[in-house]
Amino acid sequence: MSDDAHTTTADQLVFQSPVDRYPAIEPPEQHQPEPGLDAEMTPMADLGEHSYRGTGRLEGRKALVTGGDSGIGAAVVIAYAREGADVAFTYLPAEEEDAQKVARIVTESGRRCVPIAGDLVDPAFGPEAVERAVAELGGLDILVNNAGKQIAVESLTDLTDQQVEETFQVNILAMFRTTRAALPHLAAGSTIINTTSVVAYQPPPVLLDYAATKAAINNFSKGLAEQLAPQGIRVNTVAPGPIWTPLQPSDGQPTEALPEFGQSTALGRAGQPTELAPAYVFLASPESSYVVGATIHVNGGMPTP
Ligand code: NAD
Ligand code: MG
Repeated sequence: MSDDAHTTTADQLVFQSPVDRYPAIEPPEQHQPEPGLDAEMTPMADLGEHSYRGTGRLEGRKALVTGGDSGIGAAVVIAYAREGADVAFTYLPAEEEDAQKVARIVTESGRRCVPIAGDLVDPAFGPEAVERAVAELGGLDILVNNAGKQIAVESLTDLTDQQVEETFQVNILAMFRTTRAALPHLAAGSTIINTTSVVAYQPPPVLLDYAATKAAINNFSKGLAEQLAPQGIRVNTVAPGPIWTPLQPSDGQPTEALPEFGQSTALGRAGQPTELAPAYVFLASPESSYVVGATIHVNGGMPTP
């Protein structure tokens, strides 16, 4: 990744224009089988391995990130490690190559890493991942529900029950189960961060099932935030806009839409995964102590409610 033109070695705190921090990529039309690999993307995405410098904001914390092998989840895992946290993350067995790379970056950052393979369509997996993370990290105080499934389908007529059910299983039902399993382990001061999307407010016609889960995540997160705040556990969400991750070239977008991906934002370019990481760090850190039930929009300037 270091030799790729679309990554940066500049520290994330360098003063620069957000318009030019990354080039406006025009990804060639490409396709990968689901779930897609970070290692196979053209151009490669920036996970922050060469640029994210920690400032000790999560020293000694223990985090579990679902879908931490690639994309936004991988950028969060790397940032959390650089901020001083030990990190467990889940991934699908088909993503072993990406998972090993992220685990190596965490270990090289001097933190403990626990990669956990499994499929969130299986109702048992989320809770199992929590128990493994707790056992191997010696506790848990940050949960990031980030895994997501996104398959574009042009017409409702062609949208199968199986796809709708799997999308709901991975994106929202697993979030209920994983969070429920984590609760007994979370002391006051712990944080839960759920990944939603700008499509919760602007549902694209080709993402009916996916966008519905993202709206549900917003609603679930705000209600849970109210429920848990009195116990000192904060729940918040991050709503990304168009981010260049393996989700997109593995049927997340119609293939012909990829070259323009992200160009309709105010910044005129797609976001890179590492540009999401500081929002997740802020929401996990005690410095956001009065931020509860909030959504941080990281979308290059797409208007939101
Ligand atoms: P990504 O493909 O890199 O990450 C998604 C991860 O979800 C995969 O790595 C995989 O490990 C996991 N996953 C998928 N199906 C799974 C299953 N059945 N069981 C277990 N894990 C599974 O893509 P990303 O864009 O970084 O996605 C991360 C989150 O960001 C998702 O919730 C996605 O909806 C959200 N999001 C992405 C964008 C974007 O433009 N990329 C925009 C808004 C929201
Ligand atoms: Mg992946």
